[in-house]
Amino acid sequence: MKTLLIDMDSVICDLMTEWHGRYNRDYNDNLSVDRLKCWDSSKYVKPECREKIYNYLNEPGLFLNLKPLPDAIEVLRNLSKKHEILIVTSSVTTAFSEKEKWVERNLPFIGKENIVFTHRKNKICGDLLFDDAPHNLLNFKNTGRIAIAMDYPYNQSINVPRVKSWLEFEQGINENWWDL
Ligand SMILES: [Mg+2]
Repeated sequence: MKTLLIDMDSVICDLMTEWHGRYNRDYNDNLSVDRLKCWDSSKYVKPECREKIYNYLNEPGLFLNLKPLPDAIEVLRNLSKKHEILIVTSSVTTAFSEKEKWVERNLPFIGKENIVFTHRKNKICGDLLFDDAPHNLLNFKNTGRIAIAMDYPYNQSINVPRVKSWLEFEQGINENWWDL
């Protein structure tokens, strides 16, 4: 049994579609994740928005109603029978209770007691981190442990193994691709 550290936003939950959707509606734009070539979303929005793109992350209900990414729930259910799963998530403090509710609702077999709210994922005990954020992947890799990227245009600069789906991630874990 290994301890798998799993990121929430853009790994378990589809944050970008809802976040960009709110921006697109307000600013009459068509931002999508394909356009994000780096982590800083403010570079890809209209000049009149810029840093205000981050204000959407404080809106009540945003995190509570995110959809899971395809196969995330089922794969996590399978993996939780064989491994310890910790959800490691960094976000605005106001979202903490919504994230707990989301996990209780969608991942009751993991439960909110297995969420770790942190901005320093590389300091958390675990054998592997599955994440999308370039800084998290890099900092975790630099501890000598395995970081796996959920593949997005904005994390291409980070040299770690990457997967395009939860099914691919499950196969990697089960077939020991990463020498766990
Ligand atoms: Mg993330």
